[in-house]
Amino acid sequence: MKSLSEKVAAIASSATMDIADQAKRMAREGIDVISLSIGEPDFDTPSHIKDACCAALARGETHYAPSNGIPELIQAISEKCRKENGFSCRPEEVIATCGAKHAIYLAMEAVINAGEEAILIDPAWVSYEPCIQMAGGRVRHYSLNPKTFQVDDTLAEKISQKTRMIVVNTPSNPAGTVFNTTSLSLVADLCEDYDLIALSDEIYEKLVYEKEHISLATIGDMVHRTITINGFSKAYAMTGWRLGYSIAPLEITRQMLKVQQHSVSHPTTFVMWGGVAALKGDQACVNQMRTEFDARRKFLMAELPAMGFEAAPMEGAFYSWIRVPGDDMEIARRWLEYAHVAVTPGSVFYAPGWIRLSYATALPRLREAMTRIANQSEGSD
Ligand code: PMP
Ligand code: GLU
Repeated sequence: MKSLSEKVAAIASSATMDIADQAKRMAREGIDVISLSIGEPDFDTPSHIKDACCAALARGETHYAPSNGIPELIQAISEKCRKENGFSCRPEEVIATCGAKHAIYLAMEAVINAGEEAILIDPAWVSYEPCIQMAGGRVRHYSLNPKTFQVDDTLAEKISQKTRMIVVNTPSNPAGTVFNTTSLSLVADLCEDYDLIALSDEIYEKLVYEKEHISLATIGDMVHRTITINGFSKAYAMTGWRLGYSIAPLEITRQMLKVQQHSVSHPTTFVMWGGVAALKGDQACVNQMRTEFDARRKFLMAELPAMGFEAAPMEGAFYSWIRVPGDDMEIARRWLEYAHVAVTPGSVFYAPGWIRLSYATALPRLREAMTRIANQSEGSD
């Protein structure tokens, strides 16, 4: 066989998905694995959302839709953006996508030329870099100060002649931290001074505790150079629906839409009706899930220091980010093999020496996981 694409061969597989697959395999073999690995709400999708999708299916919403998404969903996203995020967008600046992940892919393809660079703020989620690489670009890594988890002016040192984009993700996966206005303003100033585009991944915006979520597009003139990414997976427990969206200036959206048209056409038509119900329906379900995540967060905030772990401020999403003594890959392997607790090592997020725990797991199981980790850590001393 002739050699395959070098570009794709150079891309890592998704470690978050690989580890979750491994935990699922072990569970199928009858092993009682507790998965604190994948970032996936453990709640069912609220029934009014499922009902809206079933009704759409029943009335025959089973054909092609406009490639940017059904007008009802685009309208609902624009309204939500104005009311909740505090900036305006025109419907033609919105694309409904197959998950936030595909919106990120479209954005990278639309913005980055071969050989250009994007800056990632580490620790960073696993899929940004491969999407940048698939577009032919390269990543420059900026590491957050592990005391503050906020951006400082040394970010400017990462800018080169080739820089096109800065990727911002708040609340952060994997750190579970939230950027304050100072961090966002630093990013905004650099984007404006160096004529860069920002990709602002706000998929965890509904899961913020004791702080406030600020959309990057509301800072200064950033609305004219920000691609805001969001979706339904985390806020509405809709991971399997594969529905997300982007909001970006028209000239960027036009380019992104071409990539969508030629790759997936649009998200599944009846699924988009579920998205309309999610945005327009009662938001009590979102608050209920956040309250439950918050109870788990508070448990871990007490438990982790008692177990001797230093943790990043648990301000958002459903992740605890803990410092571990030694090789995080090896520790994660040991916890899975001997304690049957699946976690994600920090190295896959460019931060060796840390481990990510997802607390999208019911409190009794979370308690049990902490007991197992404590016993395993003692046993290995
Ligand atoms: N961004 C971040 C930071 C994530 O953690 C995820 C995880 N699923 C996504 C985007 C993609 O979400 P989805 O494709 O399920 O909408
Ligand atoms: N984003 C989630 C995680 O980090 C789900 C898996 C993925 O899409 O990477 O675990």
